[in-house]
Order: sequence, then structure tokens, then C-alpha cells
Amino acid sequence: MSRQRYDFDTVAIGAGPSNLSLAALYEGACGRPLPVFERSPGPTWHEGLMLPGARLQTSWIKDLVSLVDPRHELSFLNYIVSTGRVYAFLNAQFDAIPRLEYARYLAWAAGHLDIRYGTAVDRVAYDDGFELYGGGRLLGRARHVVFGLGTRPHVPSCFTGRTLPGVILAEHLMGRLPDLTDRDAPAVVVGGGQTGAECVLALLRAGFHDVQWMGRRHWFAPLDDSPPANDFYRPSYLGFFTGLPEATRRRLLSEQVATSDGVSMSSLQEIYRAEYEERLENGGRPLTLLPGRDVVAVSGRGGVVTMRCRLTTGGHEFREARHVVLATGREPAPLPFDAEMAEMVELDATGEPVVEQHYSLLWKHADQHRVFVQNRARFTHGINDPNLSLLSVRAAYIVNALFEREAYRIRDEHTFTVWPDSHPR
Ligand SMILES: Cc1cc2nc3c(=O)[nH]c(=O)nc-3n(C[C@H](O)[C@H](O)[C@H](O)COP(=O)(O)OP(=O)(O)OC[C@H]3O[C@@H](n4cnc5c(N)ncnc54)[C@H](O)[C@@H]3O)c2cc1C
Repeated sequence: MSRQRYDFDTVAIGAGPSNLSLAALYEGACGRPLPVFERSPGPTWHEGLMLPGARLQTSWIKDLVSLVDPRHELSFLNYIVSTGRVYAFLNAQFDAIPRLEYARYLAWAAGHLDIRYGTAVDRVAYDDGFELYGGGRLLGRARHVVFGLGTRPHVPSCFTGRTLPGVILAEHLMGRLPDLTDRDAPAVVVGGGQTGAECVLALLRAGFHDVQWMGRRHWFAPLDDSPPANDFYRPSYLGFFTGLPEATRRRLLSEQVATSDGVSMSSLQEIYRAEYEERLENGGRPLTLLPGRDVVAVSGRGGVVTMRCRLTTGGHEFREARHVVLATGREPAPLPFDAEMAEMVELDATGEPVVEQHYSLLWKHADQHRVFVQNRARFTHGINDPNLSLLSVRAAYIVNALFEREAYRIRDEHTFTVWPDSHPR
């Protein structure tokens, strides 16, 4: 069957930042475009979560290419100069740039790449190469494939599989806001991360008078963006982390969570200031913080949602709301392997595919046909993996592995942290 020609040497699926970075570096390395199949009809980046004033949590220098190839034409600097906005951008002195600007940058970069919009890949089969299907149609055959499917909202099990009027996913909030007329009634945001914070701000700005913010941790933890925290987001740490035993990796990840899943200090300040000013002007209790609560059961009756919450201090309590916004995190989108292909992929103890050093999956025909995955290697490659920080570094490792040469050199030599040896002599 090898006798069939491949339509593509390598194909990428999903045109989020991960595969845009890959496509940019791939073309930079070989001069040929990398075809990227994307299900949405045009460029988009977490559009439903583009809440007003949202800021990127990552430096714009960590764009699609610059950390490994600062001379690449798809750098953020080239983008901002070529839009004619560079002086205004510099004068605005952003500590963190608007997420909208980053989304525009991604769309600009995508315009220079081979993105095939409106093409969802819903099944990948193996027949001496990968067969990619969408809508029951064969889209093409490829020798290697790179998945960059991103994430989908994680919904706590007590909310799944039922219709509860008043319960809204965070990414639908902006679209639904104009219909939510009952602004004196309690509106609860569930989820103590950045998206939860942005939903709280959106509700306060929209004139809700009784917003309640609920989170599982004992406080609404700020994002740790300190220099030592950022040491986890360096290629040198990546090399150290991947060499650790699995149990150690999992323990360290849970210790490092505030460097990735915390709330930006600016968002926390905005929330506290909005509460202060609203109460100063109009009295009442515009915002209540409810940390240390985990929703474990939910019911709805007569337009009221009742939630039973487990408390970090032990015991339970009930909370009622007219509107409930779920900002309860995200989980990797499933890989669309057909049953036969899925059988050939090695899984770890948790049932997840085993990701090897250069982001390829361990599977039966890996010696000839590589499957790479982006943004689903947190447990093997560290806390940086779901973030934008080392996007171009990960893409460079994949390009180097695909071409079996050092197309991009990854340099991180000025280090002065000596991480503890996991195999002391
Ligand atoms: C609102 C929000 C803000 C964030 N802000 C930051 C930040 O400031 N800093 C940071 O470091 N991280 C941030 N993150 C985390 C992370 O960096 C982003 O989620 C980032 O977009 C991940 O990129 P990705 O390319 O892996 O996935 P995604 O951006 O999710 O892209 C995946 C793409 O694949 C497409 N797709 C999925 N399935 C298929 C299919 N079967 N066929 C074809 N196409 C498919 C999707 O349509 C999508 O376009 C943020 C996350 C969210 C949700």
C-alpha cells in the first residue's frame, strides 16, 4: 500500500498559535509551505473569550518565531511596524498587550501561511501513511501529521448532560450578555482563574449588582510572574524536567500551578477597584468573593440555580443564583484517531498517549510515520506546555525532528539555577 503517493509530506491540524508557529518555522527551514487544516471558516483565537480589556499574560517577544529565529518575517515586531502602529504601540507603554492585538497578529501571520480554513479533520486513519477525513470525505494522505487541536471547556460533571437554564459557558457570556436583563439578581461565576476574573469584570461593567465569584482554592491566587517562576519557562528547564521520574514531575507541576493558572495582578486590581468604586457610588454589595468552594451538585427550579458546594474547611453549603457562568478550566481536545489507529498508540497509566522527547507520540509505526502533538504534554514536558511562552521552541524541536537536522538552534546558556539532580551519586 505504500505504493500510494502522499498528497503531503507533513500536514498540521488546527491553526492556533501552536501550529502557526510550526508552519512559520517549517517554511523558514525548507522554503515550502506547511498545509494546515483548520475547522473555523477564518482566522480566530478564543473569540468568545475576547472580553473587553483582556490582556495577554505573555510578553510579545515570545511571539510565533522570535525566540528561535528573530529574523523571521512573521515576528510580532515586523507585524506591528507593518501596520503603522509601532510608535503608538510603544507610547502606550503596555505592561501586557491587549489580547485583541495578539489575535490580530495571529491573523496577519496566518495570512502569510498555507491555512486551509473550513476544513475540520474528524477522522485520522492509518494505511501506510495517514488518511485524513473531514465530513466523510478524504482530505488527503500524509506521511507525518502534527496535531495542534488546542483545548475545549472543561465542565464539572454535576453540570454535564443536563439543561439548566441560567447556566452559561464563559465563552458564550459576551454573546448572551444583552439578553440577561435581570441585573439585580445574583450572578455567580464559577472558576477562580483568569477567565473567571474576566467574566466577573464583564458582569460588573455590564451593571450586575450582585456578582459572586466562586473558586476552589482558598484564595484567588495571583499569577506568579516573578523571575524564579519564569525559570520554569526556559528551554534549560524543559531539558531538566523531561528527565525526571513521572511521580516527581507530577508533584512539581502541582507546586508550579500559580505560574500558569493564576489571575493577572492587573485583573485582580481592576476587580477590587471596581468593587470599591461601585460601592462608593451606589452602595449595596456589588461583588462577593467566595473562595474555597467546589460545586459538587446542582439543580434548577423556577429560574433559580441551586448549587451545593464542598468547602475547603470541611462541610457543605448551598448557593443560589439566577445566572451561573462556568469558567471551570479547559482540557485537551480529543485526538480524532479511528479505532484501529487508536489501538496502535501507546498510553500512559492515566490513559493519555505517551509523548516522547520531541513531542512525537509513541506508536506502532513511529519509525516511519511520525505523529506530533502540541499543547498536550504538560505531564512530560512541564508547566510551559499549555502556554504561549515556549511556543516557538516547541515548534523548532518538531521541525528539527521532522527534518532530522538542527534547522533551528535552541540556545539558553546564561543560567545560574542548579536544579537538584534526580539521580544523586
Ligand atoms: C482565553 C484564553 C487566553 C489565553 N491567554 C494566554 C496568555 O496570555 N498566555 C499564555 O501563555 N497562554 C494563554 N492561553 C493558553 C494557550 O496559550 C492558548 O490556549 C493557545 O491558544 C493554545 O494554542 P493552540 O494552538 O495549542 O490551541 P488553540 O489556540 O486552541 O487552537 C487550536 C485550533 O485547532 C482547531 N481545531 C480543533 N480541532 C480541529 C479539527 N478536528 N480539525 C481542524 N481544526 C481543528 C481549532 O479551531 C483552533 O483554531 C490562553 C487560553 C485562553 C483560553
